[in-house]
Amino acid sequence: MNFEKYFMGKIRSVVDKYGVKGRIAVALSGGKDSMAAFHALTKFKFELIPFYIDLGIEEYSKACMEYAKKICDILGYKLQIIKLKDYGIDLSKARKKCSVCGTAKRYLMNKFAFEHDCDYVATGHNLSDALTFAFNNLASVNILNFRGMKPVLPGNKDLKMAGRFKPLFYLKDDECMEYVKMNEIPYCKEKCPYARDAPTIELKEWIHEMERKRNGIMLNFAKSFEKIEEMMTRQQKIRQCSICGYPSYGNICKFCKLRRKYGKI
Ligand SMILES: [Zn+2]
Repeated sequence: MNFEKYFMGKIRSVVDKYGVKGRIAVALSGGKDSMAAFHALTKFKFELIPFYIDLGIEEYSKACMEYAKKICDILGYKLQIIKLKDYGIDLSKARKKCSVCGTAKRYLMNKFAFEHDCDYVATGHNLSDALTFAFNNLASVNILNFRGMKPVLPGNKDLKMAGRFKPLFYLKDDECMEYVKMNEIPYCKEKCPYARDAPTIELKEWIHEMERKRNGIMLNFAKSFEKIEEMMTRQQKIRQCSICGYPSYGNICKFCKLRRKYGKI
């Protein structure tokens, strides 16, 4: 089987298994994975709305945005842009930058998808990311964070929650890279200046090292984690944030707490 067919087949297996269809907001970060996901999704019968979240990380965010614009020009789409600064959050002033950034991105992606009446928001998370995230949570005994170890999570209109769709969930880092190269997709090679020493980098290398010794172990891990997630009953119920009305596990969502801290509410 040729590579392109293999790659598209992995995405199709997610689409078919979960019956993904309709309007999809595509979160572009400018990096290789989200660009590959967007490029591949244009080959399906979806209505796609690409968007970019400008995190305001100096030159890095500007460079990433240029690449996101470039792929939209190539594929004939208009890029929508959201600025984190418009919400009063300045990452350069945050102490736990990666955690603030993660919360803000998850929130804004969902808000964008919901406001644009999308059934899903698609992200570039691949198999390598999913396993790194899962093992990192296991390493810190953070079992509740197992939520989300699935390629598709359904939405809930009453809770202002868009569905989540990870088309590259069964594809590894190097496979996404190969797809990007084969299709000459432009992407930002820079890494986020805040995430250079993230402990997860070594974890990812370790997972890939195991995969080299035992081909297929990554896919099996992912399938096991997916089953564990299905077996786990949610300990916390999702409700609506009392300030903004978007989904939250507590009375006030994490994003509104952040805005409160930075003085905009
Ligand atoms: Zn809120």
